[in-house]
Formats: sequence, C-alpha cells, structure tokens
Amino acid sequence: RKSTIKQRHEQAANEVLPDHRSLYIGGNWAESASGETFETVDPTTGETLASVEAGNAEDIDRAVDAAWTAYEETYSDFSTADIQAMLESMADAVEDKKEEFARLESLDNGKPITEARIDIGLVVDHLRYFAGIARAHEGQTINTDDSRHVQTIQEPYGVVGQIIPWNFPLLMSAWKLGPALSAGNCVVLKPAEETPLSILKLLEEAGDAIPDGVVNVVTGFGPDAGEPLSNHSDIRKLAFTGSTEVGSEVMKSAADSITDITLELGGKSPLVVFPDADMEQAVQTTITAIFFNTGECCCAGSRLFVHEDIKEEFLDELAAAADDLTVDDPLLDSTDLGPKVTAEQVERTMSYIEEAESEGAAFVTGGSQPDDEALSDGCFVAPTLIDDIDHDSKAVQEEIFGPVQEVFEWSDYDEMIELANDVDYGLAAGVITEDLTAAHQCAKDIEAGNIWVNTYNDFPAGQPFGGYKQSGIGRETAQEAIDHYTQTKTVNISLD
Ligand code: NAD
Repeated sequence: RKSTIKQRHEQAANEVLPDHRSLYIGGNWAESASGETFETVDPTTGETLASVEAGNAEDIDRAVDAAWTAYEETYSDFSTADIQAMLESMADAVEDKKEEFARLESLDNGKPITEARIDIGLVVDHLRYFAGIARAHEGQTINTDDSRHVQTIQEPYGVVGQIIPWNFPLLMSAWKLGPALSAGNCVVLKPAEETPLSILKLLEEAGDAIPDGVVNVVTGFGPDAGEPLSNHSDIRKLAFTGSTEVGSEVMKSAADSITDITLELGGKSPLVVFPDADMEQAVQTTITAIFFNTGECCCAGSRLFVHEDIKEEFLDELAAAADDLTVDDPLLDSTDLGPKVTAEQVERTMSYIEEAESEGAAFVTGGSQPDDEALSDGCFVAPTLIDDIDHDSKAVQEEIFGPVQEVFEWSDYDEMIELANDVDYGLAAGVITEDLTAAHQCAKDIEAGNIWVNTYNDFPAGQPFGGYKQSGIGRETAQEAIDHYTQTKTVNISLD
C-alpha cells in the first residue's frame, strides 16, 4: 500500500502542480531577490512536492511598488462592473479546474479530497459573492440642516497586505482577495510557507483576467517576507490570518506605520450538548466539529460539554464513530482524516497529548499516531478523545490544532457557561439541542463571534466570520468585510 500511495501522489503531482513556483509581481513570474528557494513537502509521503522562491524584504518592496503602480494607472479607474467581471472570471477559472485545485490542495496540505472539494466550492462561492456585492457599495447622506449637504464616500485604501495560514490555503486567499478587490484595492499577498502552491495555480489560471499588479504574491517565510509586509509604510491596510502569537507580533509591526489591521486568529471553541439532543445528529455534528480538516480548523469544537444525563451513552457512541473514521491517503474518496500539514505540527499535537497523559487524563480513544506501516512516512495522528482532564490544563487552554477533543460533563447551566467562556479565545461555539429557547440563551451567553446551532463548520459566503477576545479583530466573508477595506471620506458642501 505504501508504494501505491507514493505512485498515486507522484502521478497527481505531475498532473496538477502549477508550472510556476515563483513570485508573482506586476503580472510577471519572478525569481526572489536572494535567489533562494525552499521546499514544500507532501505530508502524506514525506517527499518534496516542489521548490518555491523564498521572497524577502526586497521582493515585498517590488510587489508593493507594482501594486501602487497598478492602482494608480489601472485599477482605480475600474468601474464596479469591471471589478465584478474580474472576480467572476477568477471564480470561473477555479470552477473550470475545480478537481485539479482540490487534488493540489490535498497534496500540499494533506486534507482529505472530499473536504478539499468543499474548500474549492467555497472559494468559488466567496469570489462570486464579492463579485456581486462590488455593485452594491454605498455611501450616505447625512441630515444636519438646510445650510449644508453632507455625504460620505467609501474609498479603497489603495494597496493592502494580506498574510495567510496553511490550513485552508486557497479558501483563506479567497476570503482575503474577495473583499479587498471588491472594494477596489490592489493586493500584496503572502501565503504560508507550508502550502504556497494553490494560490500560484490560481494566478496561473486566472492571471489573464487580472490587470498586471492588481494581485501580487510573494512566497516565503514569516520573518523574511511576512514581517516586511506587516511593517511596510506603503501598505495602508493589513489583514492577517494565523496564530494569536504571530498575530500579536504583526499588530505591533503594523503599529509602526499606524496601518489599519484586521486579525483572524486562533480558537478553543466549546461545543455544548443538551440532554434533549438527538443522539445520532449530535454525534455526527461533534465528529464534524472536531475532525473536519483533521482538526486543523481555527474554529474546531475542541472542548465538548455534554450533559451528565446522556454523557455515558453519548461518549460510547462518539468513540465508536471516531473509531470508524478512516485515516488514510487523503487522495482517496474513502478517507476521513489525512495527515497533519507537517512533522512539526505532529510533534506539537503529540506534546499536548503526552502532557495530558502525564497529568492522568483518560483517553476515550486515540492518543497516538496510527499503527499503519503504509502511513509511516506521513504526518498522521489518530482521532483522539480525552476525558477526565482539568479545565485549567495546557491541552484545554491552548489551541492544539489537531484531531483532539477534550470532554467535560455538565449539569448546572451557569457553571457550564462559566467554563465554556474560561479561555482566552472567543472564535466559535456549537450548541446542540431541540429546545429553541435553550439554544438562543446559550448562543447569547457564550462569548464568541460565531455560534452554530445543530450544525458546525458551515461557512456560506455572506455570513460574517471573526472572533471575540484573543481570536481576532474584524469580520470576513460578508458585507462587513468591505468596511475593513474602505475608508470613509466625508464631504461637507455649504449651501449658504
Ligand atoms: P502562523 O501564525 O504560524 O502563520 C500564519 C502566517 O503568518 C504564515 O504565512 C506565516 O509565514 C506568517 N508569519 C509567521 N511569522 C510572521 C511574522 N513575524 N510576521 C509576519 N508574518 C509572519 O499560523 P499557521 O500555523 O500558519 O496557521 C494556523 C493558525 O491560524 C491557527 O492558530 C489557526 O487558528 C489560525 N487560523 C485562524 C483563522 C480565523 O479565521 N480565525 C482561520 C484559519 C487559521
């Protein structure tokens, strides 16, 4: 099986890898100023997928210059209809090759192909959404008295910087590019070094539809390419998605030039199951909440609160469902969990598991790497459920970002809410109940930017997404995102 997996991956790489693995600046494929490259690795096989240019501060300067030139010479003259047509063409380019994009994402990130197809569908959906609302940006008129006419105009910033993580590489790019371009800005985007390929393929496929310099991509590492973007004095707005730790650094960098910033950061989201929940639906929703994208989801429902009346039965069924999940080659339709993105991420997840173990936590299932020789070159971790763990412990308070969920029993509602809110994060939460009043109350009481009731990890375009507390600042994926990519100009005309 191991050699079959390797062959399948080699063949897929030959078929779907982008031809260009370079920087994309001013509409041209370009080498990095340093001449250095780095390798992106297939986390299923451990083999190198491609060598990609390692950008640095000089490349960021070039990209920012190209973006300003494009803004001044071309993009600021685009009508909203032109912008709509461009974003529609980008969506078409992805849709036309959606299976290739899904396979590429699966190769580079390790996500199961069935989930990569969901990502790519959402990429198209978000680009189309922001194409549509490009025609609907509006200012206001403000009533004061008859002596003046006051109006506001929403203007783009000009050039914005965007820094992307590795867990949903193309989808996070679409979440960022959609509103920035729709609002009339040119972009310099830095993808994660672990997964740079799908955004390069997007530009390869859709580049003809985008005027030169409107979208620029500088691949490379955080400190070399991300930091010079985050403190660049000619970047007027910065959008970052990634860990809270790096987000805090990026915010400090942006402060040097008073750059407006939005942040989409980490999470440690609670999922609350009420005693009246439909058992089968609750188990399936819990599986989606924690094991979707192999747990590499900022909003993963990683802390489960189950009512004591049903806990024993629920946990038995949940463990059986987790054990039924297929951990295998992500290119197979039958696979539920692929590898984590890198060996470093496996180490990180395993260190949390080991620490929980040393504290005496009970493992309902999992807690190790799968015992499967065919997967031994890959970055796999078995689906893991941890019981009897202190809510103050590190594995509960910190984001593990893997297929690991900690389980808690509750009986008193207020105590449960207190614990559910007792983390630094506030990105998302889930509530499972048939009782609409209980669902509303719980949605109100949990401090989080996104609450799912009887569903989880559902991201239609148009639904604002973002975090409370240390999970971020601002909202993406909806009309509100346009506000973050425009600035208000007030015009006061004397009528005297
Ligand atoms: P990360 O913070 O390590 O890296 C994110 C990006 O920042 C990468 O492109 C990286 O190269 C860059 N970077 C690293 N150091 C930098 C620096 N000093 N200056 C500027 N840029 C720098 O995060 P990750 O490991 O790629 O992604 C996982 C994290 O992303 C998780 O914490 C997850 O919760 C979060 N995430 C949040 C959302 C959301 O919408 N809230 C969505 C997806 C992922």
